[in-house]
Amino acid sequence: MSKKFASQADLEEKRVTFAELAPGAYAYTAEGDPNTGIIVGDEGVMVIDTQATPVMAKDVIARIRGVTDKPITHVVLSHYHAVRVLGASAYGAHTTIASRGTYELIVERGQQDFESEAGRFPRLFRSVESVPGLTWPNIVFDEKLTVFLGKRRVEIMHLGRGHTKGDTVVWLPEDKVLFSGDLVEFGATPYTGDAYLTDWPATLDRVKALSPERLVPGRGDALMSAAACAQAIEGTRAFVTDMFGSVKAGAAAGRDLKAVYDETMGRLAPKYGNWVIFEHCMPFDVTRAYDEARGTVDPRIWTAERDRDMWRQLEGA
Ligand SMILES: [Zn+2]
Repeated sequence: MSKKFASQADLEEKRVTFAELAPGAYAYTAEGDPNTGIIVGDEGVMVIDTQATPVMAKDVIARIRGVTDKPITHVVLSHYHAVRVLGASAYGAHTTIASRGTYELIVERGQQDFESEAGRFPRLFRSVESVPGLTWPNIVFDEKLTVFLGKRRVEIMHLGRGHTKGDTVVWLPEDKVLFSGDLVEFGATPYTGDAYLTDWPATLDRVKALSPERLVPGRGDALMSAAACAQAIEGTRAFVTDMFGSVKAGAAAGRDLKAVYDETMGRLAPKYGNWVIFEHCMPFDVTRAYDEARGTVDPRIWTAERDRDMWRQLEGA
């Protein structure tokens, strides 16, 4: 039997957890759905990743209102993916921050990504008609930006390419709390359809060098100890390395994409098949890995149509 496209069969609502990581720092997580981070400063609140639509963001805002009545002033985009950024308008923040790489990707492929992701994740794009358009940053930084939320110091950093070319982490140096975006996942399959797989492990080295003691991954539960943070980073590295290693070997042997896909699924399923969105991610992941293994430097743009063509080729549906 053929598999339903991407996450179209995934219609069951998840249970939300709103965990306190340090005084005034919270993780909004939902059993492997995209996470949102919250930092409460002296006068305002920073939100890291917004959910996919303004209607979906309302639940995040309700949780924030359970802990503070301060205005939401800042939104940070960990990267450009629609499922994380298109709820931004709900927060009414005056400042939206992204890396230069993220800004360039929004310009280049933001609209195609919106159309592609809305088709992949119907449950996460509930009330998609409430999205007013693409989310545009009004502050763009190159490598590092320090924001003072009153006395609270927030370091916003691009540590290198990995999940995308614009990956951004948010770091609270006093509390050793890290919001990693999709550079690190926990119990959820890394999506590598727009990735730089050769670079990703070195970027993870720089993430690890921060020595976080609390970590909010892109998907999965918040990690509440230094050991758990390290485990999530190493788990992500293992997946990226195993997947890309298998695809590189197949490409070097001259096998076609479908053969490499089947072989890589067979190798990875026993170890990672229980991670959230494994079946969804693998066709996209292997397709990008195969391109990169054969010398395509930048990920090709996914469109709703290309998504379906690829799925038909690899999954036969
Ligand atoms: Zn992403």
